[in-house]
Amino acid sequence: MPPWSTIETIMFDMDGTLLDLHFDNFFWLKMVPQCYAKIKGITNKEAITIINSKYRQVYGTLNWYCVDYWEKELQLNITKLKIEISHKILVRPNALKLLSELQLLNKKMLLVTNAHPRDFEIKARHTGISKFFYKCISSHQLNLAKENLGFWRELQKFAPYDAEHTLLFDDSVEVLQQAQREGIKYLYGIKQPDSHGPALKNSEFPLIEDFGHIIP
Ligand SMILES: [Mg+2]
Repeated sequence: MPPWSTIETIMFDMDGTLLDLHFDNFFWLKMVPQCYAKIKGITNKEAITIINSKYRQVYGTLNWYCVDYWEKELQLNITKLKIEISHKILVRPNALKLLSELQLLNKKMLLVTNAHPRDFEIKARHTGISKFFYKCISSHQLNLAKENLGFWRELQKFAPYDAEHTLLFDDSVEVLQQAQREGIKYLYGIKQPDSHGPALKNSEFPLIEDFGHIIP
C-alpha cells in the first residue's frame, strides 16, 4: 500500500498503466504490419521484418511514440486506423475506481504520457479518463520521452511538484528508473500491462497487480 497520507502529487502513465496495453500491442504488432503488407504488396512476414527494424531504429526516443513520424515513415493513416479499432481500448481493472477515490482525497493528479496528443485524444474520448486529472501532459509537449535524461526536471515547468512527496505509476521500467534518477520518491510498476501478455516475475520496483488492492 502506498503511504497515501504523505503523498501530494500522483502521476499516472496511460498505456499499460491505466489502459490495457493490449490495444497498442495489437495495433503496432498485428494491424500495422498487415496494412503495410497490403499497401506494399509484400507478405505479412516481410512486413513484420521491415517494421521491426524501423521500430528498433527509434526505440527509446520520442519518435517511437510520434504519430506524425510513423505516418510519414509507413505511409499509413495511423490516426484513422486507430479510430477504426477504438472499441478495443480498455481501462485496466479498478483503475477508474482508484482514480475517483484519490480525487476525493484532493490529491494533485497528473496524467503523464508518451502518447502523441492525437493518440491521447482518441483514448481519452473513448474512456473518459481525463476528467480525473488537473493536467494531462504528453511528452511531445516537452520534446523529450519520459525515459530520456531531464524529462522529470523539465516537467516541473509544466506542472510543479515536490519530488519527495510524489508517486508515479508506470509500466515502463526505463521510465521508472529515469524518474528515480531525477528524484521522484515513490515508484510503482505494473505486473501485467497487456492482459494478453506475460506478467513480470520480479522487478526492482513494487508491482501493482490490481488497482483495487491499493485503494485508500
Ligand atoms: Mg506505459
